[in-house]
Amino acid sequence: MRVEIVAVGTELLLGQIADTNSAWLGEHLAAAGVSSHFHQAVGDNQSRIVLALRTALARSDAVITCGGLGPTHDDITREAIAEVLNVPLRRDEAVVEAIRAMFSSRGREMPDANLRQADVPEGAAIIPQTMGTAPGLICPVGAKVLYAVPGVPYEMSDMFTRAILPDLEARMRANGERTGTIASRVLRTWGMSESGLADVLAGRIAELDEEAGAGGTDGAGGTDGAGAGGREGERGATTIAFLASGIEGIKVRVTVRAPDDRTAAARLDVEEATIRSILAVDGRDIVFGVDDEAIEDAVARVLHDRRWTLGLAESLTGGLVGSRLANVPGANSWFRGGVISYASEVKFDVLGVHPGPVVCETAAAQMAEGARRILRADVGLSLTGVAGPASQDGKPPGTVFIGLALGEAPAEVTELTVPGDRQRIRQYATISALDLLRRRVGALPVGGPPGAPGLGG
Ligand code: ATP
Ligand code: MG
Repeated sequence: MRVEIVAVGTELLLGQIADTNSAWLGEHLAAAGVSSHFHQAVGDNQSRIVLALRTALARSDAVITCGGLGPTHDDITREAIAEVLNVPLRRDEAVVEAIRAMFSSRGREMPDANLRQADVPEGAAIIPQTMGTAPGLICPVGAKVLYAVPGVPYEMSDMFTRAILPDLEARMRANGERTGTIASRVLRTWGMSESGLADVLAGRIAELDEEAGAGGTDGAGGTDGAGAGGREGERGATTIAFLASGIEGIKVRVTVRAPDDRTAAARLDVEEATIRSILAVDGRDIVFGVDDEAIEDAVARVLHDRRWTLGLAESLTGGLVGSRLANVPGANSWFRGGVISYASEVKFDVLGVHPGPVVCETAAAQMAEGARRILRADVGLSLTGVAGPASQDGKPPGTVFIGLALGEAPAEVTELTVPGDRQRIRQYATISALDLLRRRVGALPVGGPPGAPGLGG
């Protein structure tokens, strides 16, 4: 069963609103194991809506259209559907009464304009409205089907869950199609380029392609690549795709198709383990999180597991690192706080940095040690560098020193050159420092002191 989504609304084309309905529908269809090969967006113009619906019906088994069911003159989806089906619209008195009741429950009288919402293409069934005024429609088109729902997101999602998905599943069963699920898991990485990742994983991707056999012609990726479509079971059950996400790193998305959620989760577990082991060959742990886990969550986990506390000293990031750490619920159990030592004198007077250049290894080390000491933490983390646009201490923008003081050991310092403008440099410096902290702390044993125990806690 291939489902196509047609979102109606000129505001979508003008970029005034994002088409979150199609995104939501795509996600929920995939979760139910139903594939979509096309999404369309079309403006409030009857002939173009008709064209979009005809196109969709020609190449898909089912079409869901959303939007344009309202009472105003530009809401013409009903008329377009009647034209496509070549049937008249008939006013449904039960729907009129339901709309009237909806208005009177709000203490208002139904305007005549709303009568249009009771016009139903002949042969269509109604999806009763429970939240808005317009009912949804289920219109059989030969062996295919066209569903129409309002554009208001909560009305759309309610009708999808309540009526469309059960109807689709019934049709799939009647066709002898297996219903199932398409599930994805995202491994979030930092520290390797997209092409580097693609190179390292090329062998695994080729293996999966081979397992998939020659059953289909679709490219890899998304629900297409997960083998969804007319030839279920023949195509690969598992696909890998990459998604560069700027300062959030590069995402490796694994998608599997399976008969049920448990099998899907088990397949995802296996593939996740395989990918992690391939990516760990050079001893670097570049996967910092899964799905919605951000880098600060990974930092929280490694510190919390060891019962170590963290103190920060930030210069060029001006509090960005502390702000991200404070995103994590329960951060107060391991995050002591930070000093935004932006001015050089604050580095000298508050953190005990020896007066001199402040964008250098020595300053970064003394900042980390100062933060550890004055914030009474087990671990001190510092950042100093040049965000630009001007150079400082003879160093060009993008120069960043990250200091890390573990236990009582002297701080170690990592120098980076970060690309981009001022904001990107500050953001990259932030995630780089958090990733360094995650990797260095994560490599130390749980239960031991960080070198030697600090006083924090
Ligand atoms: P109504 O009965 O409220 O007029 P409708 O079916 O005519 O509903 P629209 O007028 O197209 O739907 O949209 C109603 C609201 O839903 C708008 O506020 C719009 O922002 C939102 N909306 C419409 N389509 C989408 C979409 N594809 N994604 C997200 N929001 C949407
Ligand atoms: Mg409308």
